[in-house]
Amino acid sequence: MNNKQEVGFIIDLDGTIYAGNELIAGARETVELLQAKQIPFVFLSNRGNYSRTMCQAKLKALGIEVSIDHIILSSTVTARFLSTYYKHHLLWTLGDRGLAEELQAHGLQLAEEPELADWLVITLHEHVTYHDLNQAFRAARAGARIIATNQDRSFPGEDGDCIDVAGMIGAITATTNKNVDFVAGKPSSMMAEAALLQLGLPPEQCIVIGDSLKSDIQLAQKANMKSVLVLSGSTMEKQVQASPWQPTWIAPHVWSFIQGYYTTGVGHIDRT
Ligand SMILES: [Mg+2]
Repeated sequence: MNNKQEVGFIIDLDGTIYAGNELIAGARETVELLQAKQIPFVFLSNRGNYSRTMCQAKLKALGIEVSIDHIILSSTVTARFLSTYYKHHLLWTLGDRGLAEELQAHGLQLAEEPELADWLVITLHEHVTYHDLNQAFRAARAGARIIATNQDRSFPGEDGDCIDVAGMIGAITATTNKNVDFVAGKPSSMMAEAALLQLGLPPEQCIVIGDSLKSDIQLAQKANMKSVLVLSGSTMEKQVQASPWQPTWIAPHVWSFIQGYYTTGVGHIDRT
């Protein structure tokens, strides 16, 4: 493998760096090696219910210290999209407070009543109540367009798979007969572009590392980037063969790939 050309890494979080509140083995060593070698990298996550500040604090608690510029979440990309094209629109959120925090950090305004909202922004809501769903339902019925941070169906939790944003979206679309107008998260080109802009490298020089064929590997394939499927999260190796999205490499976890890439040349399965 040619290690001389400069590369940048786009690294998923859930299932790649941590699972729930547990760090995946070697994740800290991975970041330390990239930092020591000054290799550009960015974390790119479909988490929309966190703000970057919250995500930075979570990583720090797990022993990984990065600047906020190294974190791009689907809430970040949603906020950038809305603040670029709909700066003065009023928003209603269905999701944990991290979403509202990220929207407000981009200068966006929340509506005081659901019926006044121009947009309903949906993400994961781990504390959702009937009242929350009903307010979102009213926003959509009163004419708010719908944007979702992502539409993943499930994510790996500490004690098994958990319902994700698709469940929140379903509650609203099924009851209002409306559709989602935009989905910001992976595998969208908006997420790929945000990561490439941050790295300042052309796609051919970027490698996506993640545990989801549908989100991470598809994003890489669509944007012409190489990819590594890690088996530390939601995907088992036997699922790869039938997938329309094929990773360039498969590795047990992020550290085994990075270690192999920069030192021994082994530790991952080279599929090129
Ligand atoms: Mg993941």
